Amino acid sequence: MANLLSKIWLSSPHMGGEEVRFVQEAFDTNWVAPLGPNVSGLETDLEKYLADSDSPLFVAALSSGTAALHLALILAGVEPGDEVLCQSMTFSASANPIRYQYATPVFIDSEAQTWNLCPDALEAAIQDRIKKGKKPKALVAVHLYGTPYQVDAVHAICKKYNIILIEDSAEALGSTYKGKACGTFGDFGILSFNGNKIITTSGGGALVCKTKAHQEKAVFLATQARDAAPHYQHSHIGYNYRMSNICAGIGRGQMRVLPDRVNQRRAMHTFYKEILKDIPAVKVFETPSSDYVSNYWLSCITVNPESGKTREGLRLFLETLNIESRPLWKPMHLQPVFNSYPYYGNRVAESLFENGLCLPSGSNLSDADRNRIKEALQTYFA
Ligand SMILES: *Cc1c(COP(=O)(O)O)cnc(C)c1O
Repeated sequence: MANLLSKIWLSSPHMGGEEVRFVQEAFDTNWVAPLGPNVSGLETDLEKYLADSDSPLFVAALSSGTAALHLALILAGVEPGDEVLCQSMTFSASANPIRYQYATPVFIDSEAQTWNLCPDALEAAIQDRIKKGKKPKALVAVHLYGTPYQVDAVHAICKKYNIILIEDSAEALGSTYKGKACGTFGDFGILSFNGNKIITTSGGGALVCKTKAHQEKAVFLATQARDAAPHYQHSHIGYNYRMSNICAGIGRGQMRVLPDRVNQRRAMHTFYKEILKDIPAVKVFETPSSDYVSNYWLSCITVNPESGKTREGLRLFLETLNIESRPLWKPMHLQPVFNSYPYYGNRVAESLFENGLCLPSGSNLSDADRNRIKEALQTYFA
C-alpha cells in the first residue's frame, strides 16, 4: 500500500524558477568553472541579505558548509593538538573538520530552551580544560534546526576566555537573534546550501568573514593556495574548496526566493502547532522568546514516552505511509567515531535524541501532503 502513495520528504530542494536563467547565462558566456560572475554575484547577494550595521561582512562562496568550517578552523589558527569546543547535538559535519586539523574536539551538552549550547556546561568545560593545562582555542556553536543559540550568553563566555567563535549557521540562514541575522555573530560564520537546506546550490556553502583579509585568505586557500607567480608556485597547503559558477547560478536564483522559503517553513511549523495542540503526548519545539526568530528549517517535536507512544513508534508508523521523518541529531559524544573525546554536560542532548523527531518541513509541500500528514498524526495519537 505504501508504494501507492508518493513519498513525502523531510526537506527537499525547491526551485524558484530563475535558477536556470543564471545557469544558462553561465553556459552562454562559458563561465563553466569554479569562478565567475555567479560566484561573485552570490557573494554580494549574501552580503546584502546578511548586512549588519555593526560590522562589515565579507563572504566567500565554497563547495560546501563543511569546507567553510574547515577553512574557519584554519583561519582561527587551529593546529594539531589544539582543543576545540563543539556543540555535541549537531550534524557530524560540525565536528569532522576539527579532526581534519588533528585537533581534539571537546563536546558540550545542550540546554532545553534552544536545544543548543548550554552556557553553564560550556563555562564549566572551559574552566576544567584550563585546569587540565590547555585552554581551548575555538568554539563551534550551532543554530540547530534554525533556532538561534543563546547568543548573548555564549558570546560573553567566548569574550571572557578569549576563545574564537565559529558560528555554524548551516541550518539557520534566514533566522535572527534580537533582529540580527544568524551567520553574522561569530568571528566566522558558515552557511550550507546542501540539497536539504532552506535554499540550495545543489551542494555548496559559504564562509562569512569580518575582514576582507580573512575572506581573501579563505579564497586563496580554497583555490589551491597559489602564490603570485607566472608558474605554479606554492608556499602553503591548499584546498579545492571554491564554489562552481554553475552551482552559484542556482544560488543566485534561490536568493530571490529566500524570504518566501523562510515564510513557507515557518508556516509548516504553525501547521504542526495547530494540529498537535490538543495532543498532550507531543510538544512542538519552539523558540523561547521574541528575541529568537527561527527559520524553522525543520519542525521538530518531542514525544513523551510516558504517554505510551514513542518517537520511534511514530517514525515507523509514518514510514508505512511513505512519510519521511527522522530522529533528532544523535549527539557527537555518543558516536563511535567521537566517543573517546571529552564531554561536559547533563544528558540533555541524550534525552532529546531519545524522544525527539523531525517532521516533514519542506517549503514545497502541498495541501494534499499536509492533509496526509495531519491524518497520519491524528491516527497515531488517537
Ligand atoms: C548541513 C550542515 C553542515 C554541513 O554543510 P554541507 O554543506 O552539507 O557540507 C554543517 N553543520 C550543520 C549543522 C549542518 O546541518
